[in-house]
Amino acid sequence: MNNASPGLRSRLDVPREVVKRCVHCGLCLDFCPTYRLLGNELDSPRGRIYQMRALSEGRIQADDPNFRLHIFRCLDCRACETACPSGVDYGRMVEAARAEIRAANRAERLTRDVLLDGVFTSNLALDALGTATRAYQRSGAQRLLRGSGLLRILPGPLKKLGDMEAMLPDLPGGVRPAALPPRTLPPRGEVRHRVAFITGCIAARFFDATNAATVRVLARNGCEVFVPPPQKCCGALHVHAGERDTARQLARHNIATFERSGADVYLVNAAGCGSTLKEYGELLEDDSIWSRRAHAFAERVRDITEFLASIDLETPRGTIERTVTYQDACHLAHGQGIREQPRRLLRLIPGLRLVEMRESDFCCGSAGIYNITQPEMAGRLLDLKMESIIATGADAVVAANPGCIIQIAAGIRQRGLPMEAIHPVDLLGEAYRRGDAMAPPGA
Ligand code: SF4
Ligand code: SF4
Repeated sequence: MNNASPGLRSRLDVPREVVKRCVHCGLCLDFCPTYRLLGNELDSPRGRIYQMRALSEGRIQADDPNFRLHIFRCLDCRACETACPSGVDYGRMVEAARAEIRAANRAERLTRDVLLDGVFTSNLALDALGTATRAYQRSGAQRLLRGSGLLRILPGPLKKLGDMEAMLPDLPGGVRPAALPPRTLPPRGEVRHRVAFITGCIAARFFDATNAATVRVLARNGCEVFVPPPQKCCGALHVHAGERDTARQLARHNIATFERSGADVYLVNAAGCGSTLKEYGELLEDDSIWSRRAHAFAERVRDITEFLASIDLETPRGTIERTVTYQDACHLAHGQGIREQPRRLLRLIPGLRLVEMRESDFCCGSAGIYNITQPEMAGRLLDLKMESIIATGADAVVAANPGCIIQIAAGIRQRGLPMEAIHPVDLLGEAYRRGDAMAPPGA
């Protein structure tokens, strides 16, 4: 592994002491999904850190194909951070390594320009993507194509299109997603919290019903909800792919947008986004103009389950007689340390039975766009996850992250199982709705 190319950058953009924090104890290995699947030290956290250290010391170069293979095979799930007793900041390191690889590799830059820069920075492009997907489903074209079996026999590079199509969630509603009003007043009672809602770039187009449920649940619980426009992608996909400069541009835009809202807290219902939003301070650390504002922004960010579990929440009266299991999204459990709060919300719902699955915080293979870039590995991880889910006997899988919901829903569809993947806020909203449909208390 030493295709040294003079002229290419070879240093990892994190302080050397961060890289050296790893003491090679190996305690993280069993928790790493890629190591568990492949049994290869180079696909373990310890092995990857070793390679990153070699990069930082100039012993390998960022355009080394083997280095690229192992670094991009990582899910950036951060299970190793949870397991590490030495406090290794693995996510920061792997994202810096990816930035180096992209800087050194023209093909990587092309993918970045088209997908990450072209689509995920543009609300127009994202709107077009959302509308086209809905039109494809509403028109019956999806049913025809899936029924024909054509998508399964696409050749060569087109096969990826088939893989992506298989991941598409079923989108309810019309061709255009329902937009949220910029300000929602509480239906009753005094204003107890002034919150701003981060809609998420994918969630706003594909999970508009969950976003609407989130706002309704908040409003019901004394929140004045602002949805400040115009919001942009939070930059999580860019950060995970090593596109930190684009992520910084998006962060500056979002910070300015949310500052104008005057809200006390900024809420997000997508774990992957929340994890990155809480790290805006670190992302803009070296920006003398934005650093202070980025830290102030990050301190106000809360995951929706974290916030709801922290306030005086109305207990729902409606009953939902179902057995559910809970998937810990990596960027909620490992990235933000939030495990108990979503479970607490589920336990509030009358009739709902929560059954724990084996290794609920083991990655399902979604990991941002990992299921598109590494479909074979993502498929193997999904197989393991589906085994754990099926063993619970649950009829729904609850996850607080759209990426996990999309991935697990695809696993459910592929197996023709009578279950669904759903966000905890959807269940909470449904319990309130059913309670409202019942006779008023004391009547
Ligand atoms: S982030 Fe996940 S896949 Fe990557 S090394 Fe750590 S545990 Fe393994
Ligand atoms: S990352 Fe942490 S747990 Fe893993 S080998 Fe290094 S010090 Fe040990």
